[in-house]
Amino acid sequence: MFEKYDVIVIGSGPAGYVAAIRAAQLGLKTACIEKWSDENGKLVNGGTCLNVGCIPSKALLDSSHRYHDAHDGFVNHGISTGNLTIDVSAMIQRKEKIVAQMSNGITGLLKANNVTSILGSGKLQVGKKVEVTDKQGNVTVLEADNVILASGSVPVSIPVAPVDNDVIVDSTGALEFQEVPKRLGVIGAGVIGLELGSVWSRLGSRVVCLEAMDSFLPMMDQQIAKETKKILTKQGLDIRLGCRVTGSSVNTVNGKEVEVTYIDSNGEQYKEIFDKLIVCVGRRPFTEGLLSVDCGVNLDERGFIFVDDHCLTNVAGVWAIGDVVRGPMLAHKGSEEGVVVAERIAGQQAVMNYGIIPSVIYTHPEVAAVGQTEEELKSEGTDYNVGTFPFLAIGRAVAADSQEGMVKMIADAKTDRILGCHIVGPNAADLVQQVALAMEFGATAEDIGMIVFGHPTFSEAVKEAALSVHGHAIHMPNRKRRQKK
Ligand code: FAD
Ligand code: AMP
Repeated sequence: MFEKYDVIVIGSGPAGYVAAIRAAQLGLKTACIEKWSDENGKLVNGGTCLNVGCIPSKALLDSSHRYHDAHDGFVNHGISTGNLTIDVSAMIQRKEKIVAQMSNGITGLLKANNVTSILGSGKLQVGKKVEVTDKQGNVTVLEADNVILASGSVPVSIPVAPVDNDVIVDSTGALEFQEVPKRLGVIGAGVIGLELGSVWSRLGSRVVCLEAMDSFLPMMDQQIAKETKKILTKQGLDIRLGCRVTGSSVNTVNGKEVEVTYIDSNGEQYKEIFDKLIVCVGRRPFTEGLLSVDCGVNLDERGFIFVDDHCLTNVAGVWAIGDVVRGPMLAHKGSEEGVVVAERIAGQQAVMNYGIIPSVIYTHPEVAAVGQTEEELKSEGTDYNVGTFPFLAIGRAVAADSQEGMVKMIADAKTDRILGCHIVGPNAADLVQQVALAMEFGATAEDIGMIVFGHPTFSEAVKEAALSVHGHAIHMPNRKRRQKK
């Protein structure tokens, strides 16, 4: 007989551990299998997000922002710091402490919720059996009524720049530099490339981002993308669009620098030498060793586990969530899918609202979005109204030296319901969440315009942008009101 569970979750990233906790809360006997261990063989929970993703990157973004602010920003306030220095290894150690704290926290949470944590590699077998192989090769077989696959994603690698974890690194390696590279190349000006490029640029690296596509952040609202590029370029990020990397070679004499060749959109060839090169060309779903050949679970044409709108695979009782299935590769998207799946297993009718998933780039200022962009609305032929409001006219932003950027609110022309909000500016991540909340309740631009916002707050830009949708903004002339089809 195999040990039997109501629910087995494979993977303890933000998708898997949340699914496991919610399932256990609902009274289901739950196990969570994770293969990640530290150098002492101890189980490490939290997946990419906690260990090499969201949390460590934000720790370094915060440290580097403080350094940069002290270096360039304090003087405006009449504060002088004398000779400023940065101890990179102390900064990295702080990040590692935060990661350990968060990961141990998840281990504690799983335990407190009576989830059985199992260290090992899980493989789905036919009949909802799960084979677990530990580091020594010992195999145990478990069985469950429901299995949730949450194996996540890994960085995409490209043959033209093979990662050597020394001079050429992926996003994980870029969180571990022990000194500030003088010349840093970043392949891919996507979300992760811009965040990691910003960290090292603020600490003094000369950063060049080589991006194959001609447009900048093509998934984002292009007015906000344009403003973002302007701000980041002013900060010193050298963003070269239409530049496809075609080769790289690490200097064989000193082993310390890499020559990168790339081609621009006119077909011109260029060369550039960097001390470090970060490859940030996206992530791919990770399913290696996860599925036995006869388990019956289908993948889609891009290698994601194929699921329906409720994250059920083509095999009854087998679900998949997070980065390993379609949709944006975001921690909170996977977590919410985890909750929905656990509740559906427990017989509830939970549904996931894929239309309202906020996304953020944690540059300074932050860039955040929820809902649809103008470009999407145009292409589907929806009538809409737009309101924008600059942080330059927000007292709190001016007082905080954070007046760059704007809030852009888009509302349906017929119903006035908010269809999207796009922000580049101070605390954009938290501001956009206010709009996500309003959208969940079906709010109109007029509704947001009627809410009393505290003063002085950055949030006032959200209210003013909503007012501006109908040409009623108070702290700005309303000449720029636009009605668009
Ligand atoms: P993962 O976090 O990848 O976890 C999957 C887990 O499954 C891993 O621990 C893995 O070891 C385990 N596993 C895989 N196969 C098996 C198996 N067969 N048996 C046992 N265990 C297995 N997202 C945001 O929302 N906000 C951010 O600010 C953000 N910043 C990021 C910064 C960086 C540098 C990176 C790389 C990513 C960032 N992300 C961010 C993305 C985010 O980390 C992912 O979307 C999220 O971690 C996906 O969660 P997941 O649970 O699906 O998978
Ligand atoms: P994201 O998917 O947001 O992580 O962004 C990854 C980016 O890397 C995309 O914008 C790709 O266009 C870009 N990219 C992929 N391959 C190359 C390459 N060889 N040279 C330059 N940019 C690339």
